[in-house]
Amino acid sequence: APGGAELRARAEIDLAAVRANVRVLRERAPGAALMAVVKADGYGHGAAACARAAVEAGATWLGTATPQEALALRAPGAGVPDHVRVMCWLWTPGGPWREAVEAGVDVSLGGLWALDEVTRAARLAGRPARVQLKADTGLGRGGCQPGDWAELVAGALRAEAEGLLRITGLWSHFACADEPGHPSIAAQLSRFREMVAYAEAQGADPEVRHIANSPATLTLPESHFDLVRPGIAMYGVSPSPETGTSAGFGLRPAMTLSASLALVKHVPGGHGVSYGHHYVTPGATTLGLVPLGYADGIPRHASSAGPVLVEGKWRTVAGRVAMDQFVVDLGGDDPGAGAEAVLFGPGDRGEPTAEDWAQAAGTIAYEIVTRIGTRVPRVYT
Ligand code: PLP
Repeated sequence: APGGAELRARAEIDLAAVRANVRVLRERAPGAALMAVVKADGYGHGAAACARAAVEAGATWLGTATPQEALALRAPGAGVPDHVRVMCWLWTPGGPWREAVEAGVDVSLGGLWALDEVTRAARLAGRPARVQLKADTGLGRGGCQPGDWAELVAGALRAEAEGLLRITGLWSHFACADEPGHPSIAAQLSRFREMVAYAEAQGADPEVRHIANSPATLTLPESHFDLVRPGIAMYGVSPSPETGTSAGFGLRPAMTLSASLALVKHVPGGHGVSYGHHYVTPGATTLGLVPLGYADGIPRHASSAGPVLVEGKWRTVAGRVAMDQFVVDLGGDDPGAGAEAVLFGPGDRGEPTAEDWAQAAGTIAYEIVTRIGTRVPRVYT
């Protein structure tokens, strides 16, 4: 990396783990195709590298939020084979829809308001748009309300008859799949079946019907339909403690975040540490400086809480996480500047996991891995 940046900190990405995780997920959903969700730069792991790894392990679709992310995967440099389909689902007015249609990207349509724009894009591109109709079966976020579904289906079928689009998919997304047994799960599934049946009765003939994210792929076979759409689990992280542990599913966390201590120093007791002096050394001790901060995605909410492995021992963030650095109390040990500090990884070297950091920061592991910033080089192993 330029300037020897890897000496400061690095996020090692274990692509063999990504491949193995994708195989585990395919075994969980044997009758379904797998769409590897690689939005947000592959949840911070690198979109193109993880997309290629997922494809090597049998994924035949890639999913992103924005059309820009989808187009980046279709660019020749990404190395994604042509037979792999790419879908994006975050519709925003004025997006690069013509380019998306030209590139053969599947776009999600959650309302009639987007139909005009997608058909205009198809006219400009000179080919039909590949469109997946999104049903809001209960998430209450994007997608078409059940009451508006008939109108959307009719509009899309008319445009299909005019050769402006092809309805390639019918799909939805869960609100509470990471809380197995939550009553909304069954309600969403039955609404999804109804909305799919209605669209098909009207003449829609989609290639794929899908609703399952990671927790549903892992725990809810009746949600698999033609395709499953896991994100977090392909990176080896469990969607939630309620879903189960990653190890319990045979998933291996793919990211290891580590840094080299920038300095170790001896300080007396009663020494205030970092902004606000929220940590005061209880006695004479050693402090290690970890050159990562909230600008790198280390949550400030993990101040005085985040765990770090140094020379076989768990240490804790001492005081506030700053923009570029934080301090750990090394309890008198002096491993020397340059010693390795492992923030999280798969856990088998005794290091904390992204889930441990999520707990320390009061968030979810998705946010921990996704936010690791661009200053931290990804090193692929
Ligand atoms: N499908 C959609 C529409 C999403 O937005 C996401 C991510 O939030 C996923 C699938 C993957 O979810 P998960 O990472 O929980 O598997």
